[in-house]
Amino acid sequence: MPEAPDHSALAEWRQRLAQARSVCVLTGAGMSAESGIPTFRDALTGLWSRFDPARLASVEGFRADPGLVWDWYAERRAGVRAAQPNAGHRALAAFARRRPGVLTLVTQNVDDLHQRAGNRDTIRLHGDILQDRWLEPCGMACDPARAEPGRPPRCVACGGLVRPGVVWFGESLPPAALQHAEHAARHCEVLLVVGTSGAVWPAAGLAAAARRAGAHVAIVNPSASEIDAEAHVCLRGTAAILLPALLD
Ligand code: NAD
Repeated sequence: MPEAPDHSALAEWRQRLAQARSVCVLTGAGMSAESGIPTFRDALTGLWSRFDPARLASVEGFRADPGLVWDWYAERRAGVRAAQPNAGHRALAAFARRRPGVLTLVTQNVDDLHQRAGNRDTIRLHGDILQDRWLEPCGMACDPARAEPGRPPRCVACGGLVRPGVVWFGESLPPAALQHAEHAARHCEVLLVVGTSGAVWPAAGLAAAARRAGAHVAIVNPSASEIDAEAHVCLRGTAAILLPALLD
C-alpha cells in the first residue's frame, strides 16, 4: 500500500514548480499506466511472461524468432493506439502551454501519449513503438512503409526485415536525444522524475546528474524506485493524481 503524499511537501513543490525558470520532467512507463498501457514489468507478467525480455527486446532475440517478437510488438502497438492521454499527460501539456520555454520533457516511453496530449517536442530516449525501421540498412534504400506485409514485413527487393523503431537492450540511445536530455537535467532548477523504476540506464542517471548540478529533484511514484536516494523528496502517488496537483 503506497504511503499517502504529504500535503505540506506537495504545497512546497507546487510553489517551487510555479516559480522555477526551468523544469525538466523525466517520465517512464508508470506515466502511462493509468492510460491502460502496461509498465514493463506488467507487460512481462501477461501472456508473454514465459519469455525472457532479452528474447523480446534485443536484436539477438529478434533474429532468433522474428515472428514471436513481431507479434509481441503488434499487441503492444494495438494497446498504445487504443490508449488515451491521462490527467498527468494533460497537466504537463497545459504547464508547457502556460509557461512557454520553461519545461523540457524527456521520456523513456515509446508510446505517443505526451505528443497526443500536446507536448510535441518531447525528447524520446527510447524511440517510437509506432514507427517501423529496417533491421539492417536496406541496400536498395526502400521505405520500410512499403515493405511486403508479413510477420515481420520484408523488403521486396533485398529481403531485409522490418523491426519496431524502439531502442532494445544492448543498443545505444539516439545521441542527439541523450545529449539534449543530459543538458536539460544539468541546467534545470527542478527535475521531476515520474513513473520510472530507475533500472534502465543511462536514463536513470539523469536524476543524479541534475542533483549534482544543483537542481531540486522530486520523484512521483506510488512505489520505491532504484533512484530514490537521488531525490530530495519522493511523492508517493500516481502520475494522474499528483501531476495535476503539482502543476495545475
Ligand atoms: P518500469 O516498468 O521498469 O517501471 C515502472 C515504474 O512506474 C515503477 O517504478 C512503478 O512503481 C511506477 N508506476 C506504476 N504505476 C504508476 C503510476 N500510475 N504513476 C506513477 N508511477 C507508476 O518502467 P521504466 O522505468 O520506464 O523502464 C522500462 C522500459 O520499458 C523503458 O525503457 C520504457 O521505454 C519501456 N516501456 C515503455 C512503455 C510505454 O511507452 N508506455 C511501457 C512499458 C515499458
